[in-house]
Amino acid sequence: MRAFEYVRAADVGQAVALVSADRDAAYLAGGTTQLDLMKDGVLAPERLVDISRLSLRGVVSRGEAVVIGAMTTMEEAATDPTIAERLPLVREALLLSASVQLRNMATMGGNLLQRTRCRYFRDPTVACNRRLRGSGCSALAGHHRMHAILATSDHCIATHASDVAVALVALDAVVRTTGPGGERQIPLTQLHLPPGETPDVETVLAHGELITGIEVPLPPRGARSGYLKVRDRASYEFALASAAVVLVMDQGVIVDARVGLGGVATVPWRAVAAEGVLRGAATTTAVFRTAADAALEGAVARRDNAFKIDLAKRTLVRELSILAEARDVES
Ligand code: SF4
Repeated sequence: MRAFEYVRAADVGQAVALVSADRDAAYLAGGTTQLDLMKDGVLAPERLVDISRLSLRGVVSRGEAVVIGAMTTMEEAATDPTIAERLPLVREALLLSASVQLRNMATMGGNLLQRTRCRYFRDPTVACNRRLRGSGCSALAGHHRMHAILATSDHCIATHASDVAVALVALDAVVRTTGPGGERQIPLTQLHLPPGETPDVETVLAHGELITGIEVPLPPRGARSGYLKVRDRASYEFALASAAVVLVMDQGVIVDARVGLGGVATVPWRAVAAEGVLRGAATTTAVFRTAADAALEGAVARRDNAFKIDLAKRTLVRELSILAEARDVES
């Protein structure tokens, strides 16, 4: 690993100033991904600005929303009482994400910005457009069973790995940032960029722009919500497919529906077409299947990952059925 300078920022302003002024500087939060990538030679910042002790930690209720500080650990968010009661899909996604050791280190802001788990991205000896634009994509002809089928391009098909981002994108979360140009708020659906021709540009954030918090509107009381994750093994594994769903029901009719999909797209995926099918419809399996077909419309499968199309549809239908049945039990 290349030698680097370590600086601990005293406040947000200093942190932003230090990183913004230096193209070779990067933030260090929980370090669960950053340090691995540095050891592997994928990243080689000359300066790390430690933001782990900034006062950006905790979950605060603000009326009908909660604000999760960017330095809040995944475990702190998962065990927060308001999140457990009003945002159960966030808690479920966090608990299914990683071991408790990792959840105690990794931060919520860092989770949203985690880099892809594509094996070729993490191997500096092979071509990867996301690591080095124009070098090629080793996954196209290589191993891509875990790779994406939505929002891909001929330049990159890497899956976005976050579970909680899928739940948050279904909840209309907004990311708060401070950057060299000041503060701004970015809907989470607009934070991540599909790869297109520039897979190395992963988000709309400017260099040095720091996520300070995540604002999550609370669904109406009585809304049903959940996160279902399908994976190869029961612990510490990334999703083959996942579904985050919020349903607002009234007398057997779906008044509002919000759907996020994970494990299948290059970005945390909001399945807008599926929501359109569900709104105003009854909770029947036929409706759920039509919604799932709409959610996967336009999916592009490669040699080894075509199974994900059907798996993602089944995952979404299953989660919708679980929520519909839960409603029936309580009504
Ligand atoms: Fe790199 Fe993306 Fe191709 Fe993986 S899928 S090798 S991250 S360009």
